[in-house]
Amino acid sequence: MGSWLCERLVADGWSVICVDNLVTGRRENIAALEGENLRFVHWDICAHPPEGLLADLGEGELDLVMNLACPASPVDYGNLPLFTMRTGSVGTWNLLELARNHGARFLMASTSEVYGDPLVHPQAEDYTGNVNTLSPRAVYDESKRFSETLAYTYFRHFGSEIRIARIFNTYGPRMQVEDGRVVSNFVVQALGGAPLTVYGDGSQTRSFCYVTDTVEGLLRLALSDFGEPVNIGNPDEYTIAQFAQMVIDTVGLGGELVFKGLPPDDPKVRRPDISRARRVLGWEPQVTLADGLERTIAWFRDRLAQDGE
Ligand code: UDP
Repeated sequence: MGSWLCERLVADGWSVICVDNLVTGRRENIAALEGENLRFVHWDICAHPPEGLLADLGEGELDLVMNLACPASPVDYGNLPLFTMRTGSVGTWNLLELARNHGARFLMASTSEVYGDPLVHPQAEDYTGNVNTLSPRAVYDESKRFSETLAYTYFRHFGSEIRIARIFNTYGPRMQVEDGRVVSNFVVQALGGAPLTVYGDGSQTRSFCYVTDTVEGLLRLALSDFGEPVNIGNPDEYTIAQFAQMVIDTVGLGGELVFKGLPPDDPKVRRPDISRARRVLGWEPQVTLADGLERTIAWFRDRLAQDGE
């Protein structure tokens, strides 16, 4: 998502400092953008900012800090639990300080996971959620919840300008082959003619948002004057079994499903109520799942072919 955001920012005429520790990201995703309008800095936001991070900026020249840092795949944050918690706490804190010291606005990329395994459906921003604090998933959920609280406290305490986006399952080209999330797993499996791994009985639901739609929502929120959380997601909801069938039909290969255990506390339903985003940002997704899936499949087909060369 970061590389898509960078691409859009550069196209819109921003001057961008792209920060990543490359734990789950790949520099090749932004390589073509590097130059006068985009500088890459290898930095783990949990550490002190490196010397010269903002060296070429004058007073008041940092406008916006967007915090998208954090592993987002349950597989990744499951493997990196403490790192994930540090990123959402110490890392977010460092970026809030950076924004405050330069009078910049701060956007927090939060998540639908703040709603946990929701007891209210669809989820609107006033739903306070149902997170099991002791679950392996909570390393992500609680980090993002903490980040939101911290950002909001900077607003209350220091008057910092903060924006909070709650992002729902976003997908698209440039996901990692080994990412572990359902879109990349199913697409890679189907392209390889392998059975699709459905966790549980496949009756759980998700609502998938194509990455360019998410980026548009993030930017509109960043540039708005709205300081409360806003859901950014596509309300078009599917069971995982339906989604598997859709991938099989679009790829035109495979067809088998293999059922595996459901990860602990896997949310049973998820669908954003985007009334607020429609009202305050004039935003709603434009790319259908059928269309987004085709683009994603085409990209993975090329990627796998390159990997096989
Ligand atoms: N899932 C699945 N097979 C996979 C990967 C994921 O059935 O190979 C399920 C997972 O249990 C969850 C849904 O698909 O119910 C979405 O999982 P993902 O990891 O993409 O994102 P989440 O919404 O859980 O963060």
